[in-house]
Amino acid sequence: MAEILCLNAGSSSLKFALYATPDTGEPTLLANGKIENIGLEPHLIARDAKGEVLAERRWTKDGTVTHETLLEDLLREIETSVGDDLIGVGHRIVHGGADHSAPARVDEALLAALEALCPLAPLHQPHNLAAIRAVSRLRPALPQVACFDTGFHHGQLSVATRLALPRALSEEGMRRYGFHGVSYEYIARQLRSIDPGAGGGRTIAAHLGNGASLCAMDRGRSIDTTMGFTALDGLVMGTRSGALDPGAVLYLFQQKGMTAREVEHLLYSESGLLGVSGISSDMRALLGSETAAAQEAIDLFVWQIARQAGALASSLGGLDSFVFTAGIGENAPEVRARVAERLGWLGVELDVDANLGGAAVISAPSSRVEVRVIPTDEERMIAIHTADLLREEPKS
Ligand code: ADP
Repeated sequence: MAEILCLNAGSSSLKFALYATPDTGEPTLLANGKIENIGLEPHLIARDAKGEVLAERRWTKDGTVTHETLLEDLLREIETSVGDDLIGVGHRIVHGGADHSAPARVDEALLAALEALCPLAPLHQPHNLAAIRAVSRLRPALPQVACFDTGFHHGQLSVATRLALPRALSEEGMRRYGFHGVSYEYIARQLRSIDPGAGGGRTIAAHLGNGASLCAMDRGRSIDTTMGFTALDGLVMGTRSGALDPGAVLYLFQQKGMTAREVEHLLYSESGLLGVSGISSDMRALLGSETAAAQEAIDLFVWQIARQAGALASSLGGLDSFVFTAGIGENAPEVRARVAERLGWLGVELDVDANLGGAAVISAPSSRVEVRVIPTDEERMIAIHTADLLREEPKS
């Protein structure tokens, strides 16, 4: 059996999943997990496919534990358990730019092109690429595949991607790209397989996690999305502001005298649910809080989802189905109910018990729009692409 490792590398965390890939057909999950708190006191937890803990480990802060040493430990552990059956590594890469949409085998030319995109996603892309470089150094012969979060949105019409700025800036790459594409591709695939009718219609998918966005899908293809040039645009998120009057950003520079770094930190790390509530970026904490500020943060979160869903329904020219996914979308019935209530005018009507009970279809039989909860699985999507690409281009 051949195995594939999927990596999703962030600034202080590394999510991983190990899949067995048969010669034909879908990969099957063997184990997954996360190393958190990298740079401080890293903590690893790995589980098997049933969710049972396989390994848990903590490192103390001593300056010698880096992303790369942690990755080396992880590779060694995996190789101890699967021998030399590891045939490749698939990565989630936030930005593929204008030129890269389909998953691609990593080589020096691709890496250089992706490095050039770091200014467009400064908080994510450098960490994604550092993981590729680390694997190249540690296991130079191991094939690697990059899957782009921007890729799924590539076929959008230029009217959906253009920013109303002077053309010279668009030609330099200032345009709307959209993100969460690996998740949306998985959702489109699942929807097509469980409900071909809905998969062939007009759908809004809501990926509501720490990062949050909506995607308008027409017959499974992205035609519009709320994230744009960067992953700051669109919905209110855990710590990100979402769409903001550009004049508000000018005000921060001109009247508040803030530096670019300070504004970046404010918009990416101190805003959103955390900024409005003053309590937490975590929806569970806000739902459990009685304070008016926590309620205001949830109100704003819901308001913006409904408002922007209305815009995407306009892009689609109507709506047949709505899908909730990711941490909040999959687990917070109260948020789903409040979003659905605001979308009643579009024909959304929930079944209260199905929503509370965590059913797969949560709309009422009389609802004009079918509403589903579909758990996302970005790692599985990466494993599928990596397996497909390695089958096409066997190891040289
Ligand atoms: P990421 O974008 O980092 O992958 P997730 O998709 O895991 O994040 O989503 C994290 C969000 O999901 C957090 O706001 C968390 O509070 C929320 N969440 C997870 N479980 C629940 C739950 N049972 N009820 C409400 N919110 C939840």
